[in-house]
Amino acid sequence: MNELRLNDENTLPTVGFGTYKAEEQQGIDAVKLALQMGYRLLDTAAKYQNEEAVGKGIKASGIAREEIVVTTKVWRGNLGYEQTKNAFEESLRKLDLTYLDLYLIHWPANEKNFGKDWKKVNAETWRAMEELQAQGKVKSIGVSNFWQEHLEALFETAKVIPAVNQIEFHPGYWQKELTAYCKAKGIRVQGWSPLARGTIFEQEQLKSIAEKHQKTVAQVCLRWCLQQDVIPIPKSTTAKRIIANRAIFDFELSAAEMEQINTIPKMGFSGELPNEWPDRVW
Ligand code: NAP
Repeated sequence: MNELRLNDENTLPTVGFGTYKAEEQQGIDAVKLALQMGYRLLDTAAKYQNEEAVGKGIKASGIAREEIVVTTKVWRGNLGYEQTKNAFEESLRKLDLTYLDLYLIHWPANEKNFGKDWKKVNAETWRAMEELQAQGKVKSIGVSNFWQEHLEALFETAKVIPAVNQIEFHPGYWQKELTAYCKAKGIRVQGWSPLARGTIFEQEQLKSIAEKHQKTVAQVCLRWCLQQDVIPIPKSTTAKRIIANRAIFDFELSAAEMEQINTIPKMGFSGELPNEWPDRVW
């Protein structure tokens, strides 16, 4: 599988494996199978409460640790310097690993929950992340669900530019301007819910493009991400889907097809916005 270079010179596989809601034995089995089927980038988060399962899946796969890129995230309830350091150690312990490959701020602090302090809270969280990286405990550091305003505020104090911004990204909601901004700043975009959690499979244009290539709509969505240099991290606990979601390197979408997909109306949006919490229950 091809790889994409990050601004810190590390690389990431072009497709990852999501694990949200893949828990306990189902999570262990999914991670094990995904690794055995060739995925090398795993995405979990403290919030998913499945870091132990992901760690066990890694061991069960028999794939060497250093071949796998393991990502986890500090939850929004643990933002801040000390909290982030503690949360990192807790994640490492649960994953049963000695280092991480990629650590992300799951959601930015915002004005709603931290008032005027929101920038400072993100800055302090980031300072902890920079130290973890300097200590060699994590190879790459990044953010998730950061809009341009959150990134610009971070740049005021950051010594390290985030390597990654992981954002919702699928044909029904792909945050075009934010993606372009990240690219311009050298920040690699990862796409979460690249299948819109299964809500766009009946979209007519996607169906017709998929039919033409003898592929599924899921594969078209993932291929569309790849062709924009966005790393999709589809989740599945179904063996045949885990395998199919990586079978996207044997076809190409034409420029006209890419454009057609780009103009699909907004649909399948999760409703999750970085400046909304904590009022939303999630
Ligand atoms: P997703 O990957 O878009 O969709 C997952 C859903 O689609 C599951 O219900 C899965 O069902 C189904 N599915 C998977 N492959 C399929 C296929 N080929 N055909 C039909 N259905 C298929 O959604 P997601 O899990 O929300 O997002 C992916 C990953 O992104 C997460 O797991 C997580 O790691 C990450 N994420 C990050 C954030 C963030 O804030 N940073 C937010 C959300 C998600 P089965 O499992 O039953 O097969």
